[in-house]
Formats: sequence, structure tokens, C-alpha cells
Amino acid sequence: MSIFKKSEDKQQAATIDEFRKKIDSAQLPSGVKQIAERELEMMCNMSPATAEYTIGLTYVDYLASLPWNKKTADTLDLTRAETILNERHYGLSEVKRRIIEHLAVKILVMNKKPQILVIDDEAIARDNIEHILTKENYNVVTAVNGVEAIEKLKTTVFDVVLTDLRMEKVDGISVLEKTKSKYPDTQVIMITAYAAVDSAIEAIKKGAFHYIAKPFRLEEVRTTVKQALEKKLSTVSAKGSVLCFAGPPGTGKTSLGRSIADALGRKFSRISLGGMKDEAEIRGHRRTYAGAMPGRIMEEIRRAESSNPVIMLDEADKIGGQDFKGDPESALLEVLDPEQNHTFLDHYLDVPFDLSNVMFIVTANVADNIQGPLRDRMEVIEFSGYTEDEKVNIALLHIVPKLLREHGLSDYPPEFTAEAVSKIINEYTREAGTRNLERQIATICRKIATEFVHNKDAVRLIKVVPELVERYLGPRKYYLEVADENDRVGVVTGLVVTEAGGDIIFVEAARMKGKRELILTGSLGNVMRESAQAALSYIRSHASYFDIHEDVFEDHDIHIHVPGGAIPKDGPSAGTTIAIALISLLKRRPARRNIAISGELTLSGRILPVGGIKEKILAARRAGVKIIVLPLRNSVDVENLSRDVKDSVEIVLIDRIEEIVDKVLLK
Ligand code: ADP
Repeated sequence: MSIFKKSEDKQQAATIDEFRKKIDSAQLPSGVKQIAERELEMMCNMSPATAEYTIGLTYVDYLASLPWNKKTADTLDLTRAETILNERHYGLSEVKRRIIEHLAVKILVMNKKPQILVIDDEAIARDNIEHILTKENYNVVTAVNGVEAIEKLKTTVFDVVLTDLRMEKVDGISVLEKTKSKYPDTQVIMITAYAAVDSAIEAIKKGAFHYIAKPFRLEEVRTTVKQALEKKLSTVSAKGSVLCFAGPPGTGKTSLGRSIADALGRKFSRISLGGMKDEAEIRGHRRTYAGAMPGRIMEEIRRAESSNPVIMLDEADKIGGQDFKGDPESALLEVLDPEQNHTFLDHYLDVPFDLSNVMFIVTANVADNIQGPLRDRMEVIEFSGYTEDEKVNIALLHIVPKLLREHGLSDYPPEFTAEAVSKIINEYTREAGTRNLERQIATICRKIATEFVHNKDAVRLIKVVPELVERYLGPRKYYLEVADENDRVGVVTGLVVTEAGGDIIFVEAARMKGKRELILTGSLGNVMRESAQAALSYIRSHASYFDIHEDVFEDHDIHIHVPGGAIPKDGPSAGTTIAIALISLLKRRPARRNIAISGELTLSGRILPVGGIKEKILAARRAGVKIIVLPLRNSVDVENLSRDVKDSVEIVLIDRIEEIVDKVLLK
């Protein structure tokens, strides 16, 4: 018995020893190292058979495996970044410009010559510090006492302040407090006599970065200042700098994020927030919880093996939901807020981890759907849908070459013609972005690869022309929704913007015997229901103008329906479309299907501006619309669109609804 126990003990001691070595070689920050050591200490007295022992080992292992001090060196070269973005991404000039500007600010902040203030009433100490810091190529300003220092702080923003602790009149603590209250990001280092280390620790509690005890070694001054500067720079460069890429699926958001990481020379990882059900997925579970795990943020940091990766948080507009456990917003705010994220606390880890060096990029389909306080932290960059031309170019220049490589077709690369790609876009996809297009091209690649494998004689250069597309993908999946329909009474084409980009809707109006009720169906949101009521009131109050009999409203119900009931629709922009559908119904004049209308309608008949102009125009074109009616007050938006977006459709801008009645309704 005792022999077994002994050999068990020995094994346990060996294991713990092995973990000690692991901790030693892991270069943990001193606080973390202490925690890991304490944990191992406790485990010495535990039986290895207990669950606590295993949990403890896993925990120590986890602590040792995190990249506490590991960072990849940033490549801060704007020209190189521009080249990478241009080579890998077609078009998107506005998006690229915003990203380059964003990086430029980062580079400027990082490359600025640091400003240092040295305050010491002892001339020798002051001169020594000034000498070595000037040699480091910093701008050094000195002050002989606290009073002079506070004067200097009024006119200059310093990155780091080194202050003697004991001074006459205004002491180091006052300098610290003054500095921190005015410039919270400025790092303050206390210089103290060896005997006064206690007060220095007091100063750290009040927000000082660190202290240096006299007599100091010059090397110590140099490294402490360097660390303080790094901290200052990482908070400043992170500030207000969470980029949010918003736009329909498949418009290049993720791939651009990856390119930004490459341009900066950083690791890249993605976390999908959509569908997260529990705050612990972000922040981890406490270790007391059986099967506890760290959150996704820490997991990605560990996988990246660096504390400064680019992390993309996908679908920030889909987080939460009713059955979400905990408070996702506050967890995310903590992750993204530079004021808080240098001490991010994962529940499992239970020691703060500094996330301030991580570059977060958030993505969403609709930026407005992101919760308020979160959204305020972000710089939103809008991605919009592509025109057919853009899609053809993206496919030929980027998607096809990538898919050929992935499908092992590089030796005998099939040649996709522009006509074939156009056919795929128009007949096999209906989308703002390029996701389905990519999927369809991948299907063709798979079929060609299968042919090659089945039949060696089939291996040859294939030219993918429109006829081949049909052979590989089967009969067409989409028809032009508008061009192929007949003009009807009470049915008018409208335009909406959804998460997937722009889309067309058909507003249908019908009248039947009843009690003057307005029936609204088709998953309409509150704003859209109100626009329908306003549209009806506008027509009733202008019945004589339109030559509509007052009594058509007597003893009748009016029903407005927007098909596609499974998709919720909302917003004010269907007001004009609904009104025209009602006039069409009441005047029995068929409406032209290939005219699409978008605009908010006032009770007096004026048309107010609407959002999502580009997405709406692209959607109208995809559906085969020929004329688009938009509010006059959107003319600036229309003017700002590039020519290829407005190509091949006629855009009519109106200020009042009366202007288009005869254009849309047939006699
Ligand atoms: P999102 O994240 O917006 O859904 P992705 O970045 O996943 O979009 O893009 C989908 C596909 O389309 C990827 O293969 C991407 O390379 C390609 N793509 C989209 N836009 C462009 C573009 N402007 N240039 C090159 N490729 C693009």
C-alpha cells in the first residue's frame, strides 16, 4: 500500500515539477506567474484522483499557453497596404480609401516622436534621465519642481511623465493626479527614494504606470519608459478605432478584413456573434462550473499565438435575441472599449488579459441594427451591392482563379467567358453580393474536376461558354421578376432594403364590401402600416382631385397586401408605392410593372427622401425594372452614384405624387 502511495506521490511531484518548468519558460507577467505558482502549490496537497486536481492542471496549462507578451511586429507601410488591397479586391475605392486613412492615422500615432516630461528637484538625476531619453530619440522637457511641471502640462500633451515623488509645495502625487485628470492616457512613472517605496505603491493604486527607485540604473529607466510608451500608444492607436464593415452578404467584408491583417503583418481570426446564446461564449465560464471553458475571445488569442491579431467579430447585428443568457452588450463593450479592454476579464482565466493591442473589426448586414452604445464605438464603413459588370470582373479576376486552385484545376484551367459569368449572375443568382455566384462557379469547377477524374480523355482545356453553364447547372433558376409579368390594376412595384441588400416588392391593393376597414397583411412593420394609413388618408382627402367618388369608401374594406409574407418588411419608403396602388385600384387603371417606386409620402402629397438608394437601384436592375421613381430630395445621392450603377435604367425624381400618376398608370 505505502509503496503505491509513494510512487503515486513521486509521479505527482514530477508532474507538478514539469508544470513549474513550463511556467518558468513561458515568460508570464509576474502577477500571472504568481497565480500559476500558487495554483501548483495547492495541487501539491491534492489527490491526483480528484476532479479539482485535473481542473487545476488544465488551468495552469492554459495560463502558460497564452501569448501574454508575444506580439507580431506591425508592418506599417501604407504603400504596401494599398498594393495588397488593390491586388486582392476589385473596385471598392471608397472602402479602400477609408481603410487606408484609418491605417494612416495609426501609423502617424505610432511614428510620432514621443514627448516626455521629467520632473525632479535634484539636478543630477534630472540631467541623467534627460540624457539617456534624448539618446532614445524622444523629445524631453524638464521641470525643476511640481509647480513648473503643472505649468508645462497646461500647454503640452506628454506621452509619458516621470516625476519625483517628494517635492516641495506640489508633490509627485499631485502631479500624477493633475496629469491623469487632464490626460487619462498619459503614463506617469514615479521616481522615489528607496525608503519610500510604500508611497510609490500608493501612487500605482492612483493610476501611476510604475515606479523607479533611486539610485536607479539607467537601463531600468530606459525599459520602464519604453513599456509606458507602448502602453500609451496601444491605447491611443486603438481609440475610436473599431471598424465596422456593414453591408449585404458576399460584398467582400471578410476577405477585406483578412487583407488588412496581411497588410499589417498580423494574424487573423474570426468569431461569429450571430446566434450566440450565452454571454459565457464571449467571456468564458467560471472554473467552479463543471466543464468550464474560456470564452471565444481568449480562445482566438491563444490560437493566434499573438496578443495583437486582427479579430473579426461577425454579425454583430444578430447577437442576443430573447433567450440570450447574460448581457451580451456589456461583454462586447468591455472587449471593444479601449478604456476597459486592457484589463479584459475572462471568467475562466480569472486574471485580466490585455486586449488593447488587438485590432477588432466588426461586421454587420445592417449597421443600424447594432445596439446603441456598441455602435457609438465604431467607425462604420458601408459596403454596398455590386453591379453586374462589377460581379463579372470580380468573378473573372478573383473568384475563378481562387476556385481553380482549390479544385485542383490549375494544370488545365477551364476558361470562363464573361458571357457565361453574366448568364450565371442573371439566371442562377439573385443577390447583392457574390456568395451564390461563387457557389455556382464552384459547382461548375466540381463537375469539371469529376469529369477529369472519371475519364482521363476528358482532361483538356475547356472553355466555359453560356451553353455549358446550362449543362452544368441545369435549367435557369431565376426569371426577370418584372419584365415577365403583366401590368395589372392595383399592383405596383416598390423597392425595399433588407439585410441581404435591396429587393423589389409588389404592393397589392383590393377593395371589397365591408365596413370601411383598412386590412394590412404581409408581415408589415409598424412604420409601414402607418404609411399605408397615411396613403389612404391622402387619397380620401384628395378624392376630388383624382376624380374618385367619395362613396367608393362607403360600405367597403380596402386590403393592402405585400407578398413574401415570411419576410418582415418595414420602413416609410413604401408610402408612395401604396398610394399609387390605391389610385390604380380606385381608378381601375393598370399600373406599369416595370416602373419601381420608392418614397415616403406626406398627407399633403409631398415625397420625402428615403435611404438605401444604391441598393434599391441595383435591386431594380436585377429584377428587370426600366424606370425608377425616387424622391427629388434624394437627387444628391443619385448624383453621387457612379455611372455604371445608373446605367440602363431611367431615374425619375419627383417632389409630389401627382407628378407620376399618369406615368405609372395606363389609361
Ligand atoms: P462577406 O464577408 O461580405 O460576406 P466575403 O468577403 O466572404 O463577403 O466575400 C465573398 C466572396 O466574394 C469571396 O470569395 C471574396 O473573395 C469575393 N469578393 C467579394 N467582393 C470582392 C471584391 N471586391 N474583389 C475581389 N473579391 C471579392
